[in-house]
Amino acid sequence: MNAPWIQAQLRQLLAQRGHAWLLHGPSGLGQYKLALSLAQAWLCDRPTAEGACGQCESCHQVDVRAHTDLVVLMPETAMLELGWPLAEKAQAELDDKKRKPSREIRVDAMRDTLEFAQRTSGRGRGQVVLVYPAERMNQVTANALLKTLEEPPGDLRFVLATEAAHQLLPTIRSRCQGHALAWPEAGEAVAWLQEEGVAAAAAAGLLRAAGGRPEDALRLHQAGLDARTWSQWPKALVRGDTGVMAGWSPAQLVESLQKLCHDLLAVRSGAAPRFFDAADLPAAGSIEGLTGWWRSLAETTRTVEHPFNAGLMLEDLVAQARTALHSKP
Ligand SMILES: [Zn+2]
Repeated sequence: MNAPWIQAQLRQLLAQRGHAWLLHGPSGLGQYKLALSLAQAWLCDRPTAEGACGQCESCHQVDVRAHTDLVVLMPETAMLELGWPLAEKAQAELDDKKRKPSREIRVDAMRDTLEFAQRTSGRGRGQVVLVYPAERMNQVTANALLKTLEEPPGDLRFVLATEAAHQLLPTIRSRCQGHALAWPEAGEAVAWLQEEGVAAAAAAGLLRAAGGRPEDALRLHQAGLDARTWSQWPKALVRGDTGVMAGWSPAQLVESLQKLCHDLLAVRSGAAPRFFDAADLPAAGSIEGLTGWWRSLAETTRTVEHPFNAGLMLEDLVAQARTALHSKP
């Protein structure tokens, strides 16, 4: 069952014609789920205005990730995370440890997709290519896709999803109908989080920690973050207590520090904080100090996937944070 704000958008998209959709907007609002629901509805044997029936053979094949008329074009890291099978050759290379899963959409995968596009629909309801996240195509793969987008064979449809539409080739954007992901109402998102197993007392706090993006909030919950810890760590950091942060992954650590830095800068410039309650923020740091910190955090995000030493990284980041927090104009 889709979250209510996803379901509403699905209904809206199905009511329109279009053979190529570009879903864009911040991650954490459900763009992948919306893209997949749209693909499943297109391929369903008994679709309604609400989407796929969920019962037919086609729906079943999508559910078990084995639909002959559906190709998902994703980086291998995303395919593994979302449970999609890799092409035989790619899987064999990973099994033999010849290389690591790719974080880009590979040229090989694009080549397979173009071959797929030339075949005829196996089940007679057309074919679908789902691309996610579309910004992970490089110049070569994007140009290859463009050709098919420009002259799609008869019954081929596309759904691309991205959180960085500005990084796509303008020609790709212009070949697609755009749809901006809708933000849920806070109450709607909190109710959904509770349905997903987040305690009522924690849901609003986690939603705040995720900047209002419900799927990100759920991910934080699943990563073991609780709302109380979230509200308390900034002031603990200023006191020199980094116990809680030591348990975070490098990526989670950098992201959390970015959120803190963002909110401190916001407050310093007279805006409302986004990820924390104003009362939970330390009164600390000069604009100059915080701006410098912001820049070095941005630099760190480029290497955070492969820190040479996670322990040292924590030490460095904490030292950097404390310098910024104690900076005086
Ligand atoms: Zn169905």
